[in-house]
Amino acid sequence: MSLVTNWLESLSYDLEISAACLKKISPASSCTVCLDECPEHAVFIDGGKIFIDKELCTSCGTCITTCPVQAIKGQSPSRKVIQKYILLQEESILPTIPELFYYHKKGIRSIHKSSKDDVLVKLVQTANESLKAMELEPLRVADELILEIEDQPKLTRRDLFNKLRIDSKKNLLSSVTPVKWRFNEDNFKISNLFDGWAFFVVRIHEESCTLCGGCFNICPSKVFEPNDRVLTIHEENCSGCNLCMDICQSSAVQISKDIHQQPAPMKYWHQSICSICGSSFHSWTAKDTCHICSTVEKPNFFL
Ligand code: SF4
Ligand code: SF4
Repeated sequence: MSLVTNWLESLSYDLEISAACLKKISPASSCTVCLDECPEHAVFIDGGKIFIDKELCTSCGTCITTCPVQAIKGQSPSRKVIQKYILLQEESILPTIPELFYYHKKGIRSIHKSSKDDVLVKLVQTANESLKAMELEPLRVADELILEIEDQPKLTRRDLFNKLRIDSKKNLLSSVTPVKWRFNEDNFKISNLFDGWAFFVVRIHEESCTLCGGCFNICPSKVFEPNDRVLTIHEENCSGCNLCMDICQSSAVQISKDIHQQPAPMKYWHQSICSICGSSFHSWTAKDTCHICSTVEKPNFFL
């Protein structure tokens, strides 16, 4: 009996904001992606933390697919997919760009909606700009469904949508699996979708960077790999979450959008022993004193 109860409880799993949320990692995070994208305005900030209003939330899953660090756990939007088409009905929420990329990876090339939708056309155009940069086949908004139905009577568009409605009611019981089994937020991580491609350029400006290491340590995507003499920047891992920029006290980090394929940039630095305090430190150019000793004002006993 308890097994059945647990199973039934798991069907109504609420969205959950995990410890990976950038605002939980640092109050300095400027991320508001889930707030901006939620079509129901169900996401809000209170005391610097993100919450979801259960009364307003329709579990559409938009926030799950757009969070840059996949911090929202829940069920992503369920889509009708037939052959190489995503079928959207009048009331369907539109797919997000990460969702379009995910379905592109799965082999989908066309999106068909039962009515004309300019916003959808714009979304697909935006996704196609990135796909073009990677020399990948574009997506298209299809006015007509051209299905390969062998040995079966041809369906009109109206017949097809009616059939889908009936099928979805029939399939309700068989498709009701515990929601926890269908968590898939990691599918929408861009760096997982396009191997070898970087979507962001990560720049560290040596003239202002004090090598405090804040960004190296806080980056949730393991972009920075510091070693004794060299800092390797794995741009292909960058999610564009901007946390490194948000926390840098010296405004030395810059993240910009650019799709590219290139070896991880490497930056060389010096490791020295401070002649004043004796501690080991890194610097971009050869120096005798560490950043703290060279910036702390020395007391002038002769004044
Ligand atoms: S989009 Fe993700 S990381 Fe950003 S505030 Fe929302 S839950 Fe946090
Ligand atoms: S490098 Fe900066 S923007 Fe990119 S994932 Fe790391 S913290 Fe986020």
